[in-house]
Amino acid sequence: MARSSGVRGRRIGSGPAGESERGGDLVARVAVTFWCAGGHSTRTMFAAEAVAPATWDCHGCGMPAGQDRDNPPPALRVEPYKTHLAYVRERRSDADAEIILAQALARLRGTS
Ligand SMILES: [Zn+2]
Repeated sequence: MARSSGVRGRRIGSGPAGESERGGDLVARVAVTFWCAGGHSTRTMFAAEAVAPATWDCHGCGMPAGQDRDNPPPALRVEPYKTHLAYVRERRSDADAEIILAQALARLRGTS
């Protein structure tokens, strides 16, 4: 007796055990709507058994959107991009760098 799922061609090879029992292409889905600070709504489908994330990127503006329409997450402040070197320079003085470089070179040369 064929199931009248209307979805065909999904059973290529053998799926994980148990998958066909549940009906692999008929997994229950729920629509979750997220709202961003800009008033956009983004509707996303999740598997019913999955826990929907608290926030989702707005499809309209890319800002974080939450499930509470009246209390959307605040818009992201865009931090200026810092390179890895910039972070290192915040932590290390030039003198530190000289020492670290010397140690690294010594290790590389096998003389430490
Ligand atoms: Zn938005």
